[in-house]
Amino acid sequence: MSASSGPRVIVVGAGIVGAACAEALAEVGCRVTVLEGGLAGAGATAASMGHVVVMDDPEPQFALSAWSRRLWTERAPELPAECEDHPCGTLWVARDEAEMDRLRRKAASYMTRGERVEILDPVALREAEPQLRRGLAGALRVPEDRVLYPPGATRHLLERARANGAVLRERSAVERVEPRRVRVGGGWQGADIVVVAAAAAAAQLVPALPIEPRRGHLVITDRYPGFLRHQVIELGYHAHALDRESVAFNVQPRRTGQILIGSSRELVGWDPAVNTSVRARMLRRATDFVPGLSALQALRTWVGFRPATPDGLPLIGEWEPGLFVAAGHEGLGVTTSLGTAGIITSLALGRPTVIDPRPFDPRRAEVVRA
Ligand SMILES: Cc1cc2nc3c(=O)[nH]c(=O)nc-3n(C[C@H](O)[C@H](O)[C@H](O)COP(=O)(O)OP(=O)(O)OC[C@H]3O[C@@H](n4cnc5c(N)ncnc54)[C@H](O)[C@@H]3O)c2cc1C
Repeated sequence: MSASSGPRVIVVGAGIVGAACAEALAEVGCRVTVLEGGLAGAGATAASMGHVVVMDDPEPQFALSAWSRRLWTERAPELPAECEDHPCGTLWVARDEAEMDRLRRKAASYMTRGERVEILDPVALREAEPQLRRGLAGALRVPEDRVLYPPGATRHLLERARANGAVLRERSAVERVEPRRVRVGGGWQGADIVVVAAAAAAAQLVPALPIEPRRGHLVITDRYPGFLRHQVIELGYHAHALDRESVAFNVQPRRTGQILIGSSRELVGWDPAVNTSVRARMLRRATDFVPGLSALQALRTWVGFRPATPDGLPLIGEWEPGLFVAAGHEGLGVTTSLGTAGIITSLALGRPTVIDPRPFDPRRAEVVRA
């Protein structure tokens, strides 16, 4: 298909998911326009940790994450420096024997699904990550996980889309979407397909979409190269925790030498304020695992909004003919952006998909609001 003859597609939203969709659709010859209400990559994507991770999730999410991480790994050699690609792997840390039992079950679950993992005893753990406190029971290493700088990765995907003829319009908030057209700046703009990739704001454009913002805090430190070697997470962390308010230990070494400290989840709508008590709990949790963090200089705290769905799975696919959705990726949208783009492109062009798209069908009865 040539760039001039493919379907016209409007992608609403230039976060990492919209950018990946734009890249993949432009690559196969679609004539893509991306309409972004603010600045590209400045939404949930900019607030994110950028951990490209395969969690021990139920099958549909596992399949999407594993496939997407493979796509990131395959393109790692060509990623520009601004993506800050860092193949550091993940360490899931167990505090005691009870957690070690869970960790062994987690290891078995990964291995049955073909994922390479390694169990570390306390001595090996100390060697792998000397800043962790003594007395921990062990860890599970997932060596193929990696870390990216999400705004840089988004810019890169958009650049590749533009190289195939896509047009990006920032500060162009879409007021309404309908199949095959959107209203922007008071006028209607037509296309063959509209893809809504507006994260939690997708529910403002398609009100029946059950996506809500789940606030998360992150703290970033000054530069301490070599302080940590892996993304390190407590075993109890879950990317789709449904509690109204939760904190978990999750720290990341950035390519810059900075340390990113998370994580928290709260359901408070779009309130952009830093919750100082949640931040304090989050930091206490982190220093309990890595005592040396308390001596580091924290530079900034921010919040972002994970786009959460009731069943924890993203909404990817056709909503009605001429209108597609790619939203609701909660805490895994950086990881799964490339797989999402693959599914949207195959479905939009009526081609076979690489993984089963049905679990992500946005019309699935159990998640659609009555
Ligand atoms: C604290 C935190 C940590 C996270 N850590 C990780 C992690 O380690 N790994 C991981 O994989 N994921 C992580 N995530 C999740 C990840 O950030 C999201 O799942 C992902 O960024 C979603 O991408 P998106 O493109 O759908 O959303 P966004 O980046 O929010 O993009 C949506 C875009 O749509 C635009 N938009 C909205 N409404 C309109 C409109 N009407 N018209 C035009 N444009 C519009 C917005 O301006 C925005 O730019 C984290 C999230 C948070 C908050």
